[in-house]
Amino acid sequence: MEDYIQISKINDFIFCPYSIYLHSVYDDFSVKTYHRTAQTVGRLAHEAVDNRTYTTAKNVLQGLEVCSERLGIMGKIDTFDIKSGLLVERKYKVKTIFDGYKYQLYAQMVCLREMGYEVKSLAIQSLADNKRYKIAIPDEEEMNHFLSLVEKMKKYRPEIPRPVNENKCLQCVYQPLCH
Ligand code: SF4
Repeated sequence: MEDYIQISKINDFIFCPYSIYLHSVYDDFSVKTYHRTAQTVGRLAHEAVDNRTYTTAKNVLQGLEVCSERLGIMGKIDTFDIKSGLLVERKYKVKTIFDGYKYQLYAQMVCLREMGYEVKSLAIQSLADNKRYKIAIPDEEEMNHFLSLVEKMKKYRPEIPRPVNENKCLQCVYQPLCH
């Protein structure tokens, strides 16, 4: 399983591939070492799902570990309604639908389908303002973008020089550990 890509890292990789390396280096330390408030709140928002306390509906799977051997990816879903086929990823507060958010859902969808579930629709739930954003099932072109990103993640090596984007670095939680 070591070579499997973690679905939760997709958004970070799009933000900056080097942040994945830094995350892996500091993974064993307390999250307080580098997590800022927004990230910590987001993590807490996921805990209800991870602890399977979000819903008691029998047809809703929550916090299920999923995996695709075909793509070499693994992770956890937030909620999947077996009856309706709706897969939902919860975020603390969504202002913009980043590609990374969509790709996380695509990754979960691929895993669930490979595991035999019928995924019919996708959505992102913004918890702070209780908004739900529908995400279209990816067409072939969109799926190819996603697949090429997974390939890039597999091939990434931290020794490769990283492009520095000052705006991103200023917002980056790993900034004190980088450079
Ligand atoms: S500080 Fe900049 S280069 Fe370093 S991980 Fe963050 S975004 Fe990437």
